[in-house]
Amino acid sequence: MISIRDVRKSFKAKLVVDGIDLDVGQGGIVSILGPSGSGKSTFLRCLNRLETPDAGSIDMGGDRYDLPRLDRRRLQSLRMRIGMVFQNYNLFRHRTAIENILEGLLVVKRLKRAEAQDIAEGYLALMGLSDQAAQYPSSLSGGQQQRVAIARTLAMQPELILFDEPTSALDPEHTGEVLEAIRKAAGQGIPMIIVTHEMGFAREISSHVLFIDGGKVIEQGDPKTLFGAPEQQRTRDFLKNYL
Ligand code: ADP
Ligand code: MG
Repeated sequence: MISIRDVRKSFKAKLVVDGIDLDVGQGGIVSILGPSGSGKSTFLRCLNRLETPDAGSIDMGGDRYDLPRLDRRRLQSLRMRIGMVFQNYNLFRHRTAIENILEGLLVVKRLKRAEAQDIAEGYLALMGLSDQAAQYPSSLSGGQQQRVAIARTLAMQPELILFDEPTSALDPEHTGEVLEAIRKAAGQGIPMIIVTHEMGFAREISSHVLFIDGGKVIEQGDPKTLFGAPEQQRTRDFLKNYL
């Protein structure tokens, strides 16, 4: 069980994340919905400490990280345990698809080259990219680049994967293949938190859904209830935009 408690973050005087709690169970998939500027990305970035929150903790199987106060060793430990997939893929431009996956296995996990190569090839295959292993990001489509990014994250075997609008930068014709790749990633059983505007996808894949506005959880529940019979007017108003 992963328990996130009271995450808070202000930029100057502006309160952006206002005390978010969230539990993610074994194999759980939590989707986060909310308008632009509601603090979704900042919340995710606080969880793996790309931002330093003002308050908040994450407990992973009984090991609690006090997010504002991590020494170098604990920060490294947290980042090993939490993977992230970004809107803009964040691949290394000067490395091929397979080298992007090998990097963390060799440098962070310090695996032997042959073992790392086996793992990287396995995840490229899972993402349907075996024939693109030697390509540089610039010669891959956006959908292919995002699938490399997902393979790279899975290869590190994190205990939680954060997805920040993983299909928002894609042309509509490449959205489906990346959603399919995320379904495959979900099949690996690693808990995931997904910020997305793909409502049909969120409804189908999620075990739990949060609607966030103004840095606060306005409403949460199982997808059937949250999408089918939302209780809060703000949730209804937001979902109306996606009908
Ligand atoms: P969302 O992902 O829901 O669109 P964000 O978390 O990106 O929202 O941003 C929430 C608010 O925090 C926005 O008003 C944004 O301008 C502000 N913000 C985000 N990052 C920074 C930053 N590094 N410095 C100042 N303000 C920021
Ligand atoms: Mg965002």
